[in-house]
Amino acid sequence: MAFDIKRKKAFVCDLDGTLFMGPNPIVPAVRFVIDSTKSGRFRFFYLTNNTSKCPEEYMRKIAGAGIPVAPEQILTPLITLESYIRRKGYTSVYLISSEKVKAHMAGRLADVGVSLDYDPERNELIALTYDKELTYAKLADATSLWNMRNCPPSPMCPIRTRNQSPVDFVATHPDNCCPSERGPIPDIGGMMRFLETTNGMKPSHVFGKPSPTLLEPVLELFRPEEVAVVGDRLYTDKAIADNAGVDFVCVLSGETTPEDLRRYAGTPPAIVVDTFDMVAEGSG
Ligand SMILES: [Mg+2]
Repeated sequence: MAFDIKRKKAFVCDLDGTLFMGPNPIVPAVRFVIDSTKSGRFRFFYLTNNTSKCPEEYMRKIAGAGIPVAPEQILTPLITLESYIRRKGYTSVYLISSEKVKAHMAGRLADVGVSLDYDPERNELIALTYDKELTYAKLADATSLWNMRNCPPSPMCPIRTRNQSPVDFVATHPDNCCPSERGPIPDIGGMMRFLETTNGMKPSHVFGKPSPTLLEPVLELFRPEEVAVVGDRLYTDKAIADNAGVDFVCVLSGETTPEDLRRYAGTPPAIVVDTFDMVAEGSG
């Protein structure tokens, strides 16, 4: 069915390439979001896989462009990680993250008293984020924890913990690289590969785009046909829309080119526009 903006109540917006190009706002797209927010015509949510930053940092960036924004509009896999820890009832997590993300998560989970430090006898979960303060010691602690709890006793893994319950392992998102002004720089993908290459440890869950879990807070408020994901990447933004069963608005203000769309073998986006503001004119 043709994309019908009259049925839409909420847009889930990718940031880089959709509303911003690096630090700079894409002016007509941002203007459309500001006007539609103020008129109440649409609800907006902002989607990022980047777990090296806290949601507050994204709020500052979005508010800095003049868009009114509240914490519940920011969707990052740190929210999915928090729900996962709560749902599983974990009380001891080895969180591999920067100090500021650790402080953020400790604050979020303060009511359930979860410890986020390395503790081989107590840890129930290893949670890997895009840790820009990653050290060799953290990687060695993660693998040794896995060795002591998840590998059968052997001369290769001689040290055992008294607690012999297997430890769970999750990663916040799957990205191999992070775009930067210096070109692609390492993201969490290489960190996962580092661990897997060492002793075979693999996450039980990888949150973030394209996993539809990130859209759960939106789909609790709106029906799928009332929601669209807006983004510039087919393999992440369109994939999460497809996986969640919602429309995808493809913008050409970022990574995807008309040539990429011609070569794209999957189902086409619901609508393709140069910049997000044109969604209002291009539908119907
Ligand atoms: Mg993007």
